[in-house]
Parts: sequence; structure tokens; C-alpha cells
Amino acid sequence: MTHSPNSPEARDVAHHLHGYTDARRHEEVGPLVIDRGEGVHVFDIHGKRYLEAMAGLWSVGVGFSEPRLVAAATKQMSRLPFYHTFGHKAQGPVIDLAERLIGLAPVPMSKVHFTNSGSEANDTVMKLLRYRSNALGEPARKTFIARAKGYHGVTLASASLTGLPNNHRSFDLPIAGIRHTMSPHWWREALPGETEEAFATRCADELEALILAEGPETVAAFWAEPVMGAGGVIVPPATYWPKIQTVLQKYGVLLVADEVICGFGRTGNWFGSTTYGMNPDVIVVSKQLSSSYLPISAILINERVYGPIADESKRIGTFGHGFTASGHPVAAAVALENLAIIEERDLIGNVRRVGAHLRARLDALAGHPMIGEIRGVGLIAAAELVIDKPAKTALDVPGRLGGMVAGIMQDKGVISRAMGEAIAFCPPMIITELQVDEMVAVFAASVDEAKVRLGL
Ligand code: PMP
Repeated sequence: MTHSPNSPEARDVAHHLHGYTDARRHEEVGPLVIDRGEGVHVFDIHGKRYLEAMAGLWSVGVGFSEPRLVAAATKQMSRLPFYHTFGHKAQGPVIDLAERLIGLAPVPMSKVHFTNSGSEANDTVMKLLRYRSNALGEPARKTFIARAKGYHGVTLASASLTGLPNNHRSFDLPIAGIRHTMSPHWWREALPGETEEAFATRCADELEALILAEGPETVAAFWAEPVMGAGGVIVPPATYWPKIQTVLQKYGVLLVADEVICGFGRTGNWFGSTTYGMNPDVIVVSKQLSSSYLPISAILINERVYGPIADESKRIGTFGHGFTASGHPVAAAVALENLAIIEERDLIGNVRRVGAHLRARLDALAGHPMIGEIRGVGLIAAAELVIDKPAKTALDVPGRLGGMVAGIMQDKGVISRAMGEAIAFCPPMIITELQVDEMVAVFAASVDEAKVRLGL
């Protein structure tokens, strides 16, 4: 695509290295430049409208034009645009938000520590748990177990927890002390004839074997999203979490629930941990905490985690960690207003109603020769594309089929995301049933178009 030299597209290509983008290909095709948002839609600089089927990056829960969030930011910006939380300092919004999060937590939690992104939060949790192990006089307890296809971020430590090859390859990751166990994706990973129940047992057995191989006294925590997001919207079998938690309890391994996508309604409850009966010691949230209007993330820790950390900070004289913008007052004020909107408008009720509708619409496509699996919960779903349905295989180049369908969808005015061959649906929680119909119709037409293009 050629863009005139002074166009935003050309200037972007000239000056900007994008995340999660093939840089050389970007030089050829340039960016889609988004200009404004309205409800579940965004508009590019040429005026074309797109239904945002991913809520940005699984995050704009209340939609793209919520005036109350703008007002909350403006009000706080005028009163106190910044203050920090180091050395016994606080401000109103951070106090209110900490209290609100402890009140909302799905299991009893003791304290909240604020960070600015999901990656920073997971990175910080690793530091907190190292500190805790040292405080407890268990300096060997520093190994963290995460899962293949899990996503926990991109800093050196959080990318190491992430179980996706592209986040490790050429970055010399993972760092030491991180292990991965299998992903709970029954459709993909099951042995021939293996039931979901038997598969869940095998997942728990593999985790137990890994803990034993490492030495239970060296394993600090198990890290997991209730439902895997960026790894392809992988919904675990019904008995997966009970079986996994039995193993964790047996060996005294802490559970860190990464609720960065699931948190604040996405699965039909305030937290994915509630949907799956999880009893985490640490919960990480971000994204829908502020509907991504401003960057903010938070770590909720229970007393079992807080107590030793507090003691250690006393022994040393300070807790040597914190970010300039931890608990930023404007981001915290926006988060509080965002949580109020989710509650007042019963957006979680909408997730349940419209999520069921989305599922029904997608399930109606399950007979399509190019759709291998439909999966999801609440208002997060994915459709896995295949070329050979019985063999569950796609094209020779991994990700090519998914990328093709997502590209056709974008041309047709729906922005989705392909994770490998899975097309994800995670729209703003305000979406209506009619808008879901439009989104799924564009998806279906795009799969048909890909079928024609591939000569199938
Ligand atoms: N954890 C999960 C579950 C995520 O989905 C993401 C982002 N997609 C992260 C962590 C990382 O968050 P961030 O991009 O804000 O660093």
C-alpha cells in the first residue's frame, strides 16, 4: 500500500516500532490509524467504522466513549494530578480504590499493591514472593510454575512466565526458576478417546509430577489465568481447577490468579476465580480495571502473603520496591468510576445475557467445514479455524489461516484478533445482541470468503 509522504501512515512507518508487529511487513503495509471511538465502535482517520470485537486489547469494558470516565479524570487532574505512595504517602483515590478492590475480591484478601500494567504486576508478584520466601526462612522456595500458552506479560520475568514461543524466541528467555506445565486445552491436547474428566486428571498429575521433580520445598507458586486469553481463549474442563487446587494444597504451593482479562465481569462474575471456584493467594488485575482509559494494574494479596512481607520490610527498614506511578491518582479515580459504572449498569448481567447469545450464534456455525472448535465463557469466546476438520489442522504456515480471516473481517468492518488459528471475540461488555449478530455475521462471511480464496 502506498501512502503520501506526509500522511499519518507514512510518518508512522518512518518513526514507530510497533509491539506485536512484523516490522518489515509494517514498512510495506503501514498502520490502520484509529481516530476516535463511540460505544463498541472505533473509526479510522478516513472515517471508516469498525466494530471492536476485542474491546481494544480485551480491555475497554465500558466502551470507547464513556463521558463519566472523562469527567472523573478531569476532576482528579485539576485537584491533584499526581502524587506518589512512597514513604508513607497516600491520596484519596488510591485509598478508595484499595478499599474497593478488597471489598470486591472473590476470596478474603488483605492488601492491594498498585502497578501500571499487567506485565509490571506479574513481575512484581514474582519479586513479592521471592521476598516472602526469604522472610519465611525458605530461601530455596523460588521456582514458579506457569503453563504452556499462558500469557502473563512481556517484561523479562513476566515474559518468562508466559508460555508462548514468540515471547521467548530471540529474547534468551525464560529466565531461570520458571517451569511450564501443560495447557488445559482438551480439544487440542487430549489423547485419543480421553474424556475431559480424564484429561483434567492428567493435567493435575503432570503438575504434581513437575512439583515432585523440582522438589516441593523449592516451588513458590503456580501462575494461571482462570481462562487463558492471549493463548487462544482456552476454557479449562469443569474439573480442572478443583483437581489442580488439590495438588497445590498438598504441597503448600501458592496460587496466583492472573485476572488481567477475566477480572471485572468478563466471565459473567466479577472475577474468573468465582466462575471456576478458585481460591487464589494473589490476584492480578488490570485492563478492565480502568477499561484501559488510563494504565493501571493492581495486585491483591492475602494475609498469608502480606504477613511475611510486612515483617521482612520491618527487618530491612523498607520495602525496596514501588513505581513512580504506583496508584496514580488520576488512573485510580478513573478506575473507581469505571467500577461504579460496571455495577450501576449491571454490565455483568449483560455479559451473561449477551454472552449466551454470542455462544448460540457461534455454535450455529459449528457445522462449518472450516470451524474446528467453538469455545468460551461469559463474553469471551474463540472459534478455531481448520482446513482438515478431523485432523484438526490448518495451513502449513502457522497462523496464516487465522491472519487471513482476521484480515478479511477487518476489511468488512470488524476488528478481531487471530491467536494462531483461533479468532477471538471479547467485545466491550456494553455490546447488544444485535451488534453481536453483526459481528458473527461478518465472521461467518469472512470464513466463507477465505474458503473461496483458498480454493477449498
Ligand atoms: N496477563 C494477562 C492475562 C494478559 O492478558 C496480559 C495482556 N494481554 C498481561 C498479563 C500483560 O498486561 P500488559 O500488556 O498490560 O503488560
